[in-house]
Amino acid sequence: MQTIPLTIAYHNIKWPLENGLFFPFTVARLDLLHPVISGNKSFKLKYNLLKVLEEKKEGIITMGGAYSNHLCATAFACYQQGLSSVGIIRGEVMEPLNNTLAFCKAHGMQLLPVNRADYDSYSKAVNFIKEQYRHLLFVPEGGNNYEGFLGCTEILAAVPEADSYTHILCSMGTGTTFKGIAAAAKAHQTVIGIPALKIKETEQELFLQQHAHVKTEATTKVLFQFAGAGYARTTQEQFNFMNLFYTKTGIPTDIVYTGKLMQAVTALAEQSFFYESCSVLLIHSGGLQGNNSLPAGTLLF
Ligand SMILES: *Cc1c(COP(=O)(O)O)cnc(C)c1O
Repeated sequence: MQTIPLTIAYHNIKWPLENGLFFPFTVARLDLLHPVISGNKSFKLKYNLLKVLEEKKEGIITMGGAYSNHLCATAFACYQQGLSSVGIIRGEVMEPLNNTLAFCKAHGMQLLPVNRADYDSYSKAVNFIKEQYRHLLFVPEGGNNYEGFLGCTEILAAVPEADSYTHILCSMGTGTTFKGIAAAAKAHQTVIGIPALKIKETEQELFLQQHAHVKTEATTKVLFQFAGAGYARTTQEQFNFMNLFYTKTGIPTDIVYTGKLMQAVTALAEQSFFYESCSVLLIHSGGLQGNNSLPAGTLLF
């Protein structure tokens, strides 16, 4: 099995602020863990793969959209271990396949499209498919199950001197990563989640209950104002920021999650959200394969 290194590489950045001062922060480079099973997906798959072996299953059946990092990571991890994989794909699977799905297929993943309306772990259509693949372990979309969470509780232990940070920020999709990090964080730490999905004000309370609720000594916060144009929606302004961030730090980011995270943190620093005594850690959760869907030349990296 792919083993996760005991220590994760990190970069110390000094980000130039408009007032001429520099805002220091550290980026934990989970994106460098593996070219395919990058970022938080390595952690989410760890205990799911162990469960496959424990339960003597033949592989994993999971779900995702056409650009899903989780599907790529699952397909590749299963391929590497000689396991089968099936991906239940949201909406149509269009030919020619995009980069993400082509990669999944090339690594042995069987792709089963379901209508957007039926795309739910508990829908009749999905249950029907699950019944036919009982020899595979079902893992929900994004690796959002207990095993996924358990893996994510190990992220901080792999970051050098993780206890020294007062603030830890990560991107949120399902919130599994946020919850895992928060569960492992200490009482003097604040864990801040930046959702990549636009959540209406009236739905934020429910989102917090479902995606951010976790037993922890740490303080937790979710900041909803940085979702930009919405999940997987991009703007020229975001590309410009990602290019600027790359030019100033040498760190590539992805269009769905980490680009928005970096933009959020630099915006918070401009707004003097952090005090001088704060030490800030950002979790770069990977996802760079998603950038392959952009026209060549959009990004500098
Ligand atoms: C999947 C993914 C996330 C979201 O993680 P959750 O645990 O679902 O919140 C964040 N960043 C990247 C790069 C991802 O691929």
